[in-house]
Amino acid sequence: MGERVERLAEKAAAAGLDWLLVSAPLNVRWLTGFTGSNAVALCPAEPGRNPAMLVTDFRYTEQAAAQAPSVWQVEIVRSDLLGAGLAEAFPVPDDGGSAYGSIGYDDTHITVAQLAALEKAFDGSAELRPLNGSVEGLRAIKSAAEVEKIRAAAQLADAAMLELLAGGLIGRTELEVALLLESAIRRLGAQELSFSPIVAAGAHGALPHAEPRDVAIKQGQMVTIDWGARLDGYCSDCTRTYFTGEVDEAGARAYDVVLEAQQAAAAAVRPGPTGREVDAVARQIIDDAGFAENFGHGLGHGVGLDVHEAPRLSRHGDAPLEEGMVVTVEPGIYVAGSYGVRIEDLMLVTADGGETLNGLPKTRQLVD
Ligand code: ZN
Ligand code: ZN
Repeated sequence: MGERVERLAEKAAAAGLDWLLVSAPLNVRWLTGFTGSNAVALCPAEPGRNPAMLVTDFRYTEQAAAQAPSVWQVEIVRSDLLGAGLAEAFPVPDDGGSAYGSIGYDDTHITVAQLAALEKAFDGSAELRPLNGSVEGLRAIKSAAEVEKIRAAAQLADAAMLELLAGGLIGRTELEVALLLESAIRRLGAQELSFSPIVAAGAHGALPHAEPRDVAIKQGQMVTIDWGARLDGYCSDCTRTYFTGEVDEAGARAYDVVLEAQQAAAAAVRPGPTGREVDAVARQIIDDAGFAENFGHGLGHGVGLDVHEAPRLSRHGDAPLEEGMVVTVEPGIYVAGSYGVRIEDLMLVTADGGETLNGLPKTRQLVD
């Protein structure tokens, strides 16, 4: 945790900031270890100049003291954290003026109302400047301990799926499958799911983010299931498309195209190429097979404390992949009214390539 504060402070100092004000709950957690829902972390860009402060409310008095390492001075305030509460913990000095210099705030998760309250709290004594996603940028590179947590979440999610598949899919509704998956994930020890599972059979699979329906899965369908576990705060994310018997030729061919695209893009994961370049590997294969109009989302995204975080693997992914990133590789083909296919793996960017953290097979799987 101390190292994270230092890395962030370094970035802030390079941007000419004097203070950092981190307020997004997952950013606060990453920086301080505190897991409560309401807190602000304030730290000086110049280490050691002033104590770093973790400001929270009465409900979290004990928890903050227990979770935050000693570099953090815990302050409990009784009112609005990003407004009057902050002013209470971090009073504007009497000399007014530019006593605080510039304060970088967490711009990716702040509301317009919160920013207005913040401006009022500092009342002209500091220049507020957006951090431009600096914390998210640092979060994208995982420590070895974080990777192990994500790996454990992915393995748990695999085990939950195997348990579900052992009981079969045909005759169960999509909602029932989602519920069984959720209960298996929680019974196996996860606190919660990374997100509500997607279970989509037949033509419903053409909706990339389909909501499970009260409709039974039939024989001879493709069933796309996208699920993940949150274990120790860290998420997993995986998709498989299962076959409940023979499907028509068009769907089966699309499956093979997605599989080829997924494997080629996964093989391209390594430090160096940008998210756009890795996305292009899968996109080219899908385009060449005649499905250019049927892959309308990006190839993947970072995964960590949040299920969707930096970096982006898409046509908008300018940042190069770096060792320690954990990303998904999830091409798909969606044909409205007919079928959908997506195959998603969770990968660690290693020094010279990529390592898949989940382990379920990707070749066509027949399930009763
Ligand atoms: Zn997913
Ligand atoms: Zn995903």
